[in-house]
Amino acid sequence: MLGNFKYSNPTTLYFGENALDYLKEELSNYGKNIMLVYGGGSIKKNGIYDDVVAILKDSGKNIFEDAGVMPNPTVEKLYEGCKIAKDNNIDLILSVGGGSCCDYSKAVSVSAYAEDDPWEKYFARMEEVDNKIIPVGCILTMAGTGSEMNGGSVITNPETKQKIGHVFGENVFPKFSILNPTYTYSLPKYQMVAGFFDIMSHILEQYFSDSDDNTSDYIMEGLLRSLIHSSRIAVDNPTDYDARSNIMWTATWALNTLVAKGKTTDWMVHMIGQSIGAYTDATHGMTLAAVSMSYYRLIMPHGLEKFKRYAINVWDINPEGKSDEQIANEGLDAMEAYMNELGLVMDAKVLGVTDKMLDGIADGTFISSGGYKTLTHEDIVNILKESMK
Ligand code: NAP
Ligand code: FE
Repeated sequence: MLGNFKYSNPTTLYFGENALDYLKEELSNYGKNIMLVYGGGSIKKNGIYDDVVAILKDSGKNIFEDAGVMPNPTVEKLYEGCKIAKDNNIDLILSVGGGSCCDYSKAVSVSAYAEDDPWEKYFARMEEVDNKIIPVGCILTMAGTGSEMNGGSVITNPETKQKIGHVFGENVFPKFSILNPTYTYSLPKYQMVAGFFDIMSHILEQYFSDSDDNTSDYIMEGLLRSLIHSSRIAVDNPTDYDARSNIMWTATWALNTLVAKGKTTDWMVHMIGQSIGAYTDATHGMTLAAVSMSYYRLIMPHGLEKFKRYAINVWDINPEGKSDEQIANEGLDAMEAYMNELGLVMDAKVLGVTDKMLDGIADGTFISSGGYKTLTHEDIVNILKESMK
């Protein structure tokens, strides 16, 4: 049965090659002080920085830069951003980058005026926001996280070895997001395919739950088919506009809350992946790739009907004359072959995971009971060991 829900999404999206043309109009809704958040410099190399700064200047804004947001943004960086935001009475945080910049901007937006320590309040204790929120706008340069149209914000505390995501409410979603698929052309292949797998994982972690037949499952199968088709094209030709634009749009739909409505969701691959990230600082999508096959093969017998449906509807496995297990296994084999074809990292050792870390990674994993099997500590250690064979 489809559960009860409320659905709305407050983010305004501008999509396409001319999407940046709408920035000026959006900026007119906010005060003068703009905090310009970006990462390690890719936007300076590909020219996006110059285009954005020109529009900010032309709009008469004061620009306060907060550069150097790292992949897997840290709590130290968050404190730095809060100081910039508060000291300069920031009216809008404008994130120009991938999911890390957008997640970080949301974290600053809720944390700058928090009275308690924001890490403790919003990440360790996951409290609701009860202080002033600075609005966030996003100019996206990498497709993957869906952060451009959701309330997710993931922050890493390297000291305590925790990487925690807080899914904030609609008041924290970006007010607007600008998605120009050509901005993603300059991504190195490693980051590009890691983003592709992040998208796939977001869909699968909502798909593999419940045994019901509902509209969201059909939408997700369509999103997966589109992603698989377009990602193969993009790997061969990174500047294929059709492929890159379809992937960017799929990434947004994969995690803008729509497909989760009325369903329970799993998220165990993200929970294990984030704990790997806390220990190794590895690229997010690769941490998911490294544990996915061992995770899905472990839970498949507990959700056999859905895995069979996945094999047939997503991977076109011919079911004739085969047992349910055989069909489900062929679907997982096709997924594994596709992951190898993209060049994803499937071995956690390659990401820096060592035998000594296994218990710590398992301890740092939040256990959800939304999937087909509630994992034990030992299951998580085994999933990691399987990846490292
Ligand atoms: P990212 O960490 O934002 O960026 C990864 C790398 O790609 C950076 O080195 C960045 O370089 C580079 N890059 C980005 N755009 C580029 C471009 N157009 N050309 C060249 N290089 C470019 O990657 P991400 O996967 O989007 O974000 C990962 C973070 O999001 C993780 O912390 C993950 O846990 C989190 N996450 C959030 C959600 C959510 O719902 N909010 C969901 C999943 C994951 P520069 O720094 O130089 O720009
Ligand atoms: Fe993700």
